Amino acid sequence: MAFPCVAISGEVFTRHDMDLHRETSARLKRALSGVPPGIRLLDPEPASQADLERVHTPRHIRMISDLSSLGDRRYIDMDTYVTADSFHVASMAAGSAILAAKRALEGTHAFALVRPPGHHAEPDRAMGFCLFNNAAVAAAWALEEVDRVAVVDWDLHHGNGTQKIFYDSDRVLFCSVHQGNLFPRTGWIDEIGVGRGKGFTLNAPIREGASLPDYRSVMEDAFANAITKFRPDLLIVSAGEDPLWDDPDGGMTLIPPDFGVMTRVLMEAVDAPLALVLEGGYGPSIGPAVNEIFAALGGRPVPDNGGTARESTLRIVSQLKKMMF
Ligand code: ZN
Repeated sequence: MAFPCVAISGEVFTRHDMDLHRETSARLKRALSGVPPGIRLLDPEPASQADLERVHTPRHIRMISDLSSLGDRRYIDMDTYVTADSFHVASMAAGSAILAAKRALEGTHAFALVRPPGHHAEPDRAMGFCLFNNAAVAAAWALEEVDRVAVVDWDLHHGNGTQKIFYDSDRVLFCSVHQGNLFPRTGWIDEIGVGRGKGFTLNAPIREGASLPDYRSVMEDAFANAITKFRPDLLIVSAGEDPLWDDPDGGMTLIPPDFGVMTRVLMEAVDAPLALVLEGGYGPSIGPAVNEIFAALGGRPVPDNGGTARESTLRIVSQLKKMMF
């Protein structure tokens, strides 16, 4: 079924920057260059304190707010920075992820092109360029409205924050495909959730050099099967474009049309609108990749060039099939 499609972004996301850092507004500008001319662009909205507190501790929220109010630019760990505007910008990023979820529940595909990214942010900790966990804030908001939410994270890196936030929940199915043994060095295949959440976290730590057949095998044979069985009311995608071949961060070899293929696989798994939230992606072809995502959302047929996943990926897929709830 075809659904309309919107993007969410705004000038506010240029107000969190650090010289010589990779995660800057320049990369968002590149990503936005991929939004097709006919797509309606919605203004961002702020997340409320209550929205943030569904996934973060009051202490963490206050820390980001206090550091911002100091007014200068500073690092809070090796690679995560806060500026005078960061609390406001990060609140707008999280609120825009909620807006994407809201729009998806109302029947529209929505892609929140926001920053700073979110999936590394844990309940009480900022890390990996992330201050608030945008996708998790959106999922937690949605759980006030609906029963079940699936989050698929195809960023190059493991979504450790999102995993941690919902690790004991059977209302969130969290599926992450990432380059194994890379930052933040979590997301091993045996991390499957605890208590009621056991089997509702699926991690595919695939090897460096992966191309579309590897990603497609994980997405179709492991994640899509789990999603179909889970029957989520909403599917949120932590859509990082750093598995692209020209990304400076990693060693994967995806090309822009591959992101259209992954989008299509998820669209077919739920037959409902998707809420996508930008995570990482630092290379020159992030714009074309975003364009391919919108093309897939708009219903353009995506090419399927075949090819077979590597043996190491197939082993992970067959293990995941046995581990899911
Ligand atoms: Zn990443």
